[in-house]
Amino acid sequence: MQTWLVTGGAGFIGGNFVLDAVASGIRVVNLDALTYAGNLDTLASLDGNPGHMFVQGDIGDRALVGRLLAEFRPRAIVNFAAESHVDRSIDGPGAFVQTNVVGTFNLLEAAREYFRGLDSDERGAFRFLHVSTDEVYGSLGDEGRFTEDTPYAPSSPYSASKAASDHLVRAYHHTYGLPVLTTNCSNNYGPYQFPEKLIPLIIQKALAGDSLPVYGDGRNVRDWLFVGDHCAAIRRVLEGGRVGETYNIGGDAERQNIEVVKAVCALLDQRRPRADGKPRDSQISFVSDRPGHDRRYAIDASKIRSELGWSPSVDFEQGLATTIDWYLDNPDWVRRVLDGSYRLERFGQEA
Ligand code: NAD
Repeated sequence: MQTWLVTGGAGFIGGNFVLDAVASGIRVVNLDALTYAGNLDTLASLDGNPGHMFVQGDIGDRALVGRLLAEFRPRAIVNFAAESHVDRSIDGPGAFVQTNVVGTFNLLEAAREYFRGLDSDERGAFRFLHVSTDEVYGSLGDEGRFTEDTPYAPSSPYSASKAASDHLVRAYHHTYGLPVLTTNCSNNYGPYQFPEKLIPLIIQKALAGDSLPVYGDGRNVRDWLFVGDHCAAIRRVLEGGRVGETYNIGGDAERQNIEVVKAVCALLDQRRPRADGKPRDSQISFVSDRPGHDRRYAIDASKIRSELGWSPSVDFEQGLATTIDWYLDNPDWVRRVLDGSYRLERFGQEA
């Protein structure tokens, strides 16, 4: 049985990834600090499953990570752990530098130490996969898409901290020969996403009858990918990616924010019509833009498609319907997640 050390596996994408990995027979050691964004409820179905070991701790705790690596001897480290919300990074960039940059550095140091002690077969098999974002490339105009060669030009403290971590990961390959892989993915959506992010936020506010905040003119474009397709892409890169390479992952599903919000409203209107029969897009309210809001992201995923045969299996309309059904069917998950300190308020308005 293969063992992987997965960090941030109580978060949105990490949680989906861990559920898939354990279901497919991988033993997962799941290291997560359980910040506001980490939720063990997501992993409740793994209670008592010997294929999943949860450890509450920080990726920056080198002694702890060193102990986990020595004890469980994983064949891979998959690093999801991060502060991930752009708006929060505007109000409090320090936590982003601490986890995304310093934390990743410490994780790399622990991995380097572990890698040094492996025998040659184990070294050949070992991988450090770093999960990153398309936001490191900055903003696009109306044309073009990000490739793996697009120069980094991050705009927010979040994307700058992810860019820094990507550079560190790459440097550990060039300098120390650590067998690293990096994935840069577009916006994810799907089950278990913390309701501060656009799609689950709009679902919750729409159901509550609240106004639906759309930043600026609503025409910022993101390339949406269903989380299960992202997890499958990461598996593909882990299994077949060329060491030292980066792979862009995207859904070929560019949508303006306003289109996404209207699509959520329409699906909710079909499934749970408002008592007064009014369409939910009447709740839309345009609010001041996010400072430094990138206009457009779009991914050229031809490298992972041609080298590793990956392509998204779920289109946006299908994935959005699945996501909305999941949130409608799991109000207890939402309620328990929101029992913490977050109450659907807005962050990141400081100019
Ligand atoms: P998330 O915020 O839902 O989850 C992050 C998890 O990391 C949480 O469980 C949290 O408790 C944990 N964590 C935070 N700091 C930690 C620390 N110091 N040590 C250990 N654990 C810590 O984030 P997500 O949306 O699941 O994103 C996961 C990764 O994927 C991030 O690296 C993010 O940059 C990247 N990514 C996200 C998207 C997206 O659309 N959500 C797109 C591309 C890439």
